[in-house]
Amino acid sequence: MKALVIGCGIGGPAIAMALREVGVDAEIFEAYGASADGVGAFLNVASNGLDALRALDAHREVLRAGIPTPDLVMWSGTGKRLGAVSNGLALDDGTVSHTILRADLHRIVREEAVRRGITISYGRRMVSFEDTGDRVTARFEDGGEATGDLLIAADGVHSRTRRLLDPTAPEPRYAGLYSGGGIVRDQDFTGEPGVYHLVFGKRAFFGYTVAESGETWWFANLPRELGDVPADWRPVLAEAFESDANFSADLVRRAELGPMLPIHDLPPLPTWHRGRVLLTGDAAHATSPSSGQGASLAIEDAVVLARCLRDAGDHRAAFRLFESERRGRVERVVAYARTISNSKAAGPVARVFRDALMPYFLKRSASQESLAWMYRHQVSL
Ligand SMILES: Cc1cc2nc3c(=O)[nH]c(=O)nc-3n(C[C@H](O)[C@H](O)[C@H](O)COP(=O)(O)OP(=O)(O)OC[C@H]3O[C@@H](n4cnc5c(N)ncnc54)[C@H](O)[C@@H]3O)c2cc1C
Repeated sequence: MKALVIGCGIGGPAIAMALREVGVDAEIFEAYGASADGVGAFLNVASNGLDALRALDAHREVLRAGIPTPDLVMWSGTGKRLGAVSNGLALDDGTVSHTILRADLHRIVREEAVRRGITISYGRRMVSFEDTGDRVTARFEDGGEATGDLLIAADGVHSRTRRLLDPTAPEPRYAGLYSGGGIVRDQDFTGEPGVYHLVFGKRAFFGYTVAESGETWWFANLPRELGDVPADWRPVLAEAFESDANFSADLVRRAELGPMLPIHDLPPLPTWHRGRVLLTGDAAHATSPSSGQGASLAIEDAVVLARCLRDAGDHRAAFRLFESERRGRVERVVAYARTISNSKAAGPVARVFRDALMPYFLKRSASQESLAWMYRHQVSL
């Protein structure tokens, strides 16, 4: 059996590696060139995502390249410490969530896939597919095509496959926030390594962690109308952080700023699969980055899909099983992340309630391990 995997972001290589493990041949087709960096300067690979990578025996390089960030401390814009909570729950062997440059995670999963003999074809944007019942053919912008037994979409939140599979599928929802960030070196912004500080500022949200090396990894989420893009984001961000009692305004004035991107998530889709075609990762269930789970869910999908294909009688049964195992979990994460995104974009009145209630909420989360459903989820082949 051969699978055409559309998209070589985070999920695509994981899918191809997982399919290999169960004897399904996979080839990956990516719209951009090999050096395309994708979105987000760095991201959180949650403990459950690391566990899913471990199921593929592809976790070691990620652990080496990332920085352990087991703790989150929340602050208000006035400088009040709202509380602390774990950034995921440690795995049995003590592994905790890691923060990693997206480019590093992307490179590691691609290189590992290639090392295992998987072909990645770059510059091949899929524009349409045809499912004839016994085979499926993908057609590319360059005029070429490829045929296989399955077409597995890992083509991200703005998935072309999703639109082709179900033209009535809901479009991604704008979360009301633009997001961007970067890394600053030698600027003496101090903090305890391993702790992610999250500041619910008066007008924007600020997050940062300080690495052992002294680098400060930071990001900002700014509530803003979609499409309202200034010529220069830096003064806009500095002004948004101006009255907050921390170094965020100072940092954004001095730091190099990567692209500021609008944040989207995806409402629940009626259809995840039809015939020989299946949606996975952000194409099926994009969550806003506020959950720190999008990449981890895409990797979990890979492992579960491979197991379903191995254990179910045929691809139809496998896709049904996959959806039944994954839908509840991923939709819960999307809803959870949406709540957090909404609180980041809170107006002045909602902000007062948020800051007053947050300590109680955090205390509950910390004491009852109420997020175990998200972080202790284990997938295996
Ligand atoms: C600002 C920001 C911060 C984030 N922070 C986090 C975080 O902290 N933790 C976390 O887990 N997640 C985070 N995410 C989300 C995470 O990046 C995604 O959930 C994850 O990359 C999803 O993987 P994927 O493989 O489904 O899609 P992607 O990684 O987006 O890959 C899709 C790939 O498909 C390719 N493609 C698209 N269309 C076609 C086509 N027609 N033909 C061929 N190829 C195509 C694209 O070029 C791309 O390479 C963040 C996202 C953003 C925007």
